[in-house]
Amino acid sequence: MSSTLSTPRAAATPVVLSLPRAILWLASAAFAAVALYYFVGVDQGATSVFGNDAHIHEFVHDARHFLGFPCH
Ligand SMILES: [Zn+2]
Repeated sequence: MSSTLSTPRAAATPVVLSLPRAILWLASAAFAAVALYYFVGVDQGATSVFGNDAHIHEFVHDARHFLGFPCH
């Protein structure tokens, strides 16, 4: 007698999107990822999009070190 434990699982519900909505979501995700990459890795005060201040740099400073971006 084989005893296989089978517990009922809820089936995964697929997300169904139309092609234009999928493109919009993917483009939005790509833009957010590039913006996050810029603010964590590139924004450095002198080249900041908000002018010559280091607020963004200081806000993400620990993340910069954690991800290995050159800093100081
Ligand atoms: Zn640093």
